[in-house]
Amino acid sequence: MPERPPGTDRGSERERMRVGIVGGGLTGLALSYYLERRGVDSVTFEASSSPGGVIRSGRQNGTVVEYGPQRMRLSDTLAELTNDLRLRHELVVADDDLPLYVYADGTLREVPTSLPAFLRTDALSWRGKLRLLAEPLTADARPEETAADLFTRKFGPEAYHNVIGPLFGGIFGSDPARMPAKHSLQGLLRLEQRDGNLLVPAIKRVALGGSSSPAVVFEDGNQRLPEALYEATSDRVRLDTPVEAIGEDGDGYVLEAGGESEPVDEVVVTTPADASADLLADVAPDAAERLRGLHYNPLALVYLEADAPVDGFGYQVRKDERLHTLGVSWNGRAFGRDDVTTCFFGGMWEPDLVDESDERLADIARREYEMVTGRDAEFLEVERLHRGFPAHDDSWDALEGMELPDGVHLATNYTGRMGIPSRVREARGLAKQFSS
Ligand SMILES: Cc1cc2nc3c(=O)[nH]c(=O)nc-3n(C[C@H](O)[C@H](O)[C@H](O)COP(=O)(O)OP(=O)(O)OC[C@H]3O[C@@H](n4cnc5c(N)ncnc54)[C@H](O)[C@@H]3O)c2cc1C
Repeated sequence: MPERPPGTDRGSERERMRVGIVGGGLTGLALSYYLERRGVDSVTFEASSSPGGVIRSGRQNGTVVEYGPQRMRLSDTLAELTNDLRLRHELVVADDDLPLYVYADGTLREVPTSLPAFLRTDALSWRGKLRLLAEPLTADARPEETAADLFTRKFGPEAYHNVIGPLFGGIFGSDPARMPAKHSLQGLLRLEQRDGNLLVPAIKRVALGGSSSPAVVFEDGNQRLPEALYEATSDRVRLDTPVEAIGEDGDGYVLEAGGESEPVDEVVVTTPADASADLLADVAPDAAERLRGLHYNPLALVYLEADAPVDGFGYQVRKDERLHTLGVSWNGRAFGRDDVTTCFFGGMWEPDLVDESDERLADIARREYEMVTGRDAEFLEVERLHRGFPAHDDSWDALEGMELPDGVHLATNYTGRMGIPSRVREARGLAKQFSS
C-alpha cells in the first residue's frame, strides 16, 4: 500500500484523515480521546453495551467490587489524563508505604519494597539478602532464558523462590519458568542494557523512595475512567456495534459494523488476540494466523466479605504452599472501603479450576483465606475470565517477524505492555504519531 502523508485525504473522498478504532476498552477509548484533542477524526466500534472492556466495576451490599483491575499506578500520563478529564477528586490514593505480602512457609511475609522493609523482612534470610545485592556481579540477562532462570541467576534462588517468582507470576497468573525473558521482560532487558545492571535502578526507584507512582482507585469504581473517556468522545464511539470484518478499500480500509461499511484511512485494532485474528483474516492473513495461537491464562475472581489481618495491598502465594489461591487483593483495607477481598484462581497453574462450580470455588476461597489470615470470610460472588491475562509464554514466538500492512496497527495488551498506565501511554503515543 502506498505511503500517504499524515493528515491528508485518501483519494478525493475526504479532506481529513480518519482513524477507525476496533474496541472500546481503555486503549481504544484513550486513543479516541487523544485523537480528538489533536484534531484527528476517528470512529470507535465497541462490541458490548458499556465502555471499558475488562475494566468493569459493580457493587455488592453497597461496596465497590472490581471485576477487572483492582487498582492502578498513577503514572505521570495517567495523572495528566485524570486532570484533563476532571476526575482527580474522584481518586483514592493508598498510603505510600503500604506493604504487599507473600505467603511462604505457612505465614505472611512482607515484600521488601523499601530499604527499611528490605532490612526488616523475614521473606529473605541474611544470606538471601546478600546474594540479592550481588546482582551487579552476575552475567547479563539473556533474552532466550526463561524469566525464572533469569531472576534465579541474577538475584539468587531464595529471592526468586520466596519473593520475585510469586510476585512476577502473580502479575500474569503465569509460571515464570514458562515465560521466555524476550517476551515477558523486554523492559527489564532494556533497563539492564542502559544501566549495566538491575540492582542500581531498582535501588534508585524503590529503596530510596524514588519515582514509584502511588497506587490509586476511583471512588465509585475503576470503570469511571473508561466511562469518562467515553463521555468525552461519545459522538465518535459506537457501543453495541461489533466490527465483523476489516477489508481493503482503495488506499484505505473499510470496517464492516452494524450493517454499514465505514471507510477509514488507518485501522487500530485493540481487541483480544482471538478477535483480532478473525478481524485481520482478510487484510493480514499471516498476522491473523500468528495471533490465533497466543495463549491466555484463564482466571476466576472470587469475592469475599472478609477483614484483612494487617494493613497492606494483599498477598501472593508461593507456589509450593499447596494452596489453590494464586493471590489476594485487599482493596477494602488499602483504600478505606468496606472489606471486600478478591481472591484469584486458575491461571497457568490450574486453568481448569476456573470452570468449577461457584460453590466449590467459594468453598476453596473461604477455607484458604481463613487458614492464611485467621479471619472469617463470607462468599459474595465469582467472576470468570476465560481470556484473563496474556500468558507471554513461548506461543509469543509466533509474533517474531510479524508484519502488518501499512495503515493497520495493533495496540494491545499482548503486543505492548499490560496495565492501565501502559495502555494509556501507548494510546497517547499512537495519537501523536497520527497527527504528526
Ligand atoms: C482480571 C484483571 C486484572 C487486572 N488488574 C490490573 C491492575 O490491577 N492494574 C492495572 O494497571 N492493570 C490491570 N489489568 C490490565 C488492564 O486492565 C488491561 O491492560 C487494560 O484494561 C486492557 O485494555 P484494552 O482496551 O487494551 O483491552 P480490553 O479491555 O480487552 O478491550 C478490548 C475491547 O474490544 C472489544 N471487542 C472485542 N471484539 C470486538 C469487535 N469485533 N468489535 C468491536 N469491539 C470488540 C471488547 O468488548 C473490549 O471492550 C488487569 C486485567 C485483568 C483482566
